[in-house]
Amino acid sequence: MSFVLHGIGVSNGIAIGRAQLVSHATLEVAHYSITPEQVAGETERFAQALQSVQRELETLHGAMTSGDAPAEFGAFLDVHWMILTDPTLHEIPKRTIAEQLCNAEWALTQQLGVLMEQFETIEDPYFRERKADVVHVVERVLKVLMGKPGPVRPATAEDHTILVAHDLSPADVIQFKNHDFAAFLTDLGGVTSHTAIVARSLNVPAVVATHNARTLIRENEMLIVDGGRNVVIVNPDRSVLTEYRLKQEELELEWQKLRRLRTTPATTLDACKIELMANIELPEDLEQTMENGANGVGLFRTEFLFLNRDGLPSEDEQFEAYRTVAAGMKGQPVTVRTFDLGADKHKEGLDGLSRVAPNPALGLRAVRFCLAEPRLFLTQLRAILRASPYGKVKILLPMLSSVSEIEQALALIAQAKDSLREQKIKFDTGIEVGGMIEIPAAVLSLAAFASRLDFLSIGTNDLIQYTLAVDRADDAVAHLYDALHPAVIKLLALAISTSNKAGVPVAVCGEMAGEARFTRLLLGMGLTNFSMHPAHLLTVKQRVLTSDVGEARGFVERMRRSDEPAKLIALLGKLNA
Ligand code: PEP
Ligand code: MG
Repeated sequence: MSFVLHGIGVSNGIAIGRAQLVSHATLEVAHYSITPEQVAGETERFAQALQSVQRELETLHGAMTSGDAPAEFGAFLDVHWMILTDPTLHEIPKRTIAEQLCNAEWALTQQLGVLMEQFETIEDPYFRERKADVVHVVERVLKVLMGKPGPVRPATAEDHTILVAHDLSPADVIQFKNHDFAAFLTDLGGVTSHTAIVARSLNVPAVVATHNARTLIRENEMLIVDGGRNVVIVNPDRSVLTEYRLKQEELELEWQKLRRLRTTPATTLDACKIELMANIELPEDLEQTMENGANGVGLFRTEFLFLNRDGLPSEDEQFEAYRTVAAGMKGQPVTVRTFDLGADKHKEGLDGLSRVAPNPALGLRAVRFCLAEPRLFLTQLRAILRASPYGKVKILLPMLSSVSEIEQALALIAQAKDSLREQKIKFDTGIEVGGMIEIPAAVLSLAAFASRLDFLSIGTNDLIQYTLAVDRADDAVAHLYDALHPAVIKLLALAISTSNKAGVPVAVCGEMAGEARFTRLLLGMGLTNFSMHPAHLLTVKQRVLTSDVGEARGFVERMRRSDEPAKLIALLGKLNA
């Protein structure tokens, strides 16, 4: 049966392919096949989940016996321990993984089914009651297993595989860079969540917030994902398929035309020179950056070096990553943002260094986290400074809210420089230090920021989140996340004009910079430096080439003065006409 799911398209384009379901932290258990090469890894994942539950039970046991908990609790935990370590739960699922080439969650629930049937035949009521304990233990293991997505089957471009998941963390999505998936969709997610941002960097269509995709779609079903129109068509009929194949070809032709702009300078009709830079997450993104003719890297989100790994990256490892990007950009600027860890990027806490915050977006993230962990910050600063002689490197501090944070960060940068000097290690002594403007307080105290920093970069993703009090990762409030809100327009225009008046270079590196419908709005506010995902560079350049800054300025003046959302939409429509 054919049906349509609606969501939020976070990455444009059309993909036609077959569904691959991804297991994740949901209550339902996915069943998917793995390759013989993945058996060892999957068995190991299962073994680690068992160990993790054993540790959980040990901790609970310790807490019970040291306190004044009733003795039954200890006995109850002993029963769970026995169930957990029994070969029927330990060994049989491992055999199932290898024999049936299936995921660990599935193997474990299969075995649970067998055990449940056996319990039904037990006459002794006490032993029959133990059935619930077995279910509890299995649920504990499943929870650990599903806390991390299982492996995905490797895919090539020819497979046209479309990933379907309940939810994906940025760390999950970044792993998909090594695969050739045609598209992906998730039940949850907001438009500027980091998951969506990384999805864009995969350069494949993606639709999030579909709510039920993961339960309604079956493994291997035929899907059409239309990121531009926010829809997923499940089991399309032949006429719809033909129509979408034609659309796909048209998009491909448009893309080929755009590619001719690669080396064209981004200059407006009234001769304003515009810089179009790239946002990257990993050194591997350089290829796409160069292919799309970026004028530099405007935002290197270095926190991605921290994800999907045990332990922290060493100074040398970080140095290698920064040096590769600095040298690869051949003298063009590379803006290295210091770690913006926290919020939606590492919910589980980082290697014991952080705790799960009650309100992560307002908690110890970004520069706050770095100032609270100066050793970790100094390691990164030294690595960036060491990479600075290999290109034109700049340091960018995320999420500043006060002058005192800038002063503390600058003092640590000076300390990192001193330590390198002592060791006679070379670095660019004039390295520029900039700050991100992503909190309304920063916009309103921008003059004080501008006088202490060499450049500024506006992070509209967070600026919108904090101005409107809308969690950017939560699809339940995604309809309230509005870049065109009058308050957002006023703050953005104020930030750009104050920076320009102070003579401090300013860029926008949030997702707004990569959306062609906002290009003229930002040009009219006086912006000349845009940083975006490399896949959007040519579309934005095309818009720059057909824009007149003088004309846009007039529209923006009227927009700034209005508090009426409908008027703002109408004015933007005219500006883009
Ligand atoms: C932003 O907030 O706009 C930004 C560029 O930073 P991030 O998306 O990584 O929070
Ligand atoms: Mg941000």
